[in-house]
Amino acid sequence: MKLRIWGCRGSIPAPGAETMRYGGNTSCVELTLSDGSKLILDAGTGIRDLGIVPDLEQPIHILLTHLHMDHIQGLMFFEPLFHAGTEICIWGPPSPEASLRDRIARYISAPLAPVEVRELPALVSFREADALEWQVGPARIRAMAVNHRGPTLGYRIEDAGTTLAYIPDHEPGLGAPLQETDDEWISGFDLAHRASLLIHDCQYTDAEYAGHLGWGHCPISDALEFAHRTGPDRVLMFHHDPLHSDRALDQIAHEVATRWQCMTGRAGQVEMAAEGHELEVLPAADADPLVVGSTPPPG
Ligand SMILES: [Zn+2]
Ligand SMILES: [Zn+2]
Repeated sequence: MKLRIWGCRGSIPAPGAETMRYGGNTSCVELTLSDGSKLILDAGTGIRDLGIVPDLEQPIHILLTHLHMDHIQGLMFFEPLFHAGTEICIWGPPSPEASLRDRIARYISAPLAPVEVRELPALVSFREADALEWQVGPARIRAMAVNHRGPTLGYRIEDAGTTLAYIPDHEPGLGAPLQETDDEWISGFDLAHRASLLIHDCQYTDAEYAGHLGWGHCPISDALEFAHRTGPDRVLMFHHDPLHSDRALDQIAHEVATRWQCMTGRAGQVEMAAEGHELEVLPAADADPLVVGSTPPPG
């Protein structure tokens, strides 16, 4: 599997001179499977630049973790939705409140949008994906509810002997010490367990988290403890707070690396996600480097 990060900012886009290196677009990851087909993880503002060429033979699969704006805002600007005949399958969490289609239509409808879902030229289908496993091309996909605000999924995607766990919005501890929690009670544990690569929430410093308990996101200490307990080969820290400048994220990266090594982790095993990064997910624990290419953000 290969990945490209099109957006790794949390909560709201954060463009500007202070965020050029890590990027300002919200969550979107492009995943290229072993047969060359694609999956798109979340539809934050990063999806606008993704530029997938619609293929009338193959549906485009978009896996939404949840429907907060930073994970769907780019949908309205995803060009293939406006190509007649393109088949697009949008997966997301169920809710007792309304169907996935109706909840997304609250955004793609007046007065927030100039079109309605039913007017989109593409052939769009909506699939609710809680506690379900399914196959897309060579990939086996598993969805599971995780701790966040509102119905939210994490995904585990297996392809050709490698496994990606994607849990961008996650508060596994929710105020309880993870060190004292049994594996079976840790949200998202099975999704991340011994994955080749874990992409995980790391929105707050520990000091910031004190004022954001229950907001649905992770402090550094819980992100590292979650990684330590679940044992993935590699970890990408994701969903950067919009208030964190490049300089602040460099400081967090340094703190993450130092603390990880104190927890007996390998140097370079945990990295910060950055927009434009291209990565290859490899099965071997000693495969270096993780980041195999990078395109700087435009401008
Ligand atoms: Zn988010
Ligand atoms: Zn969220």
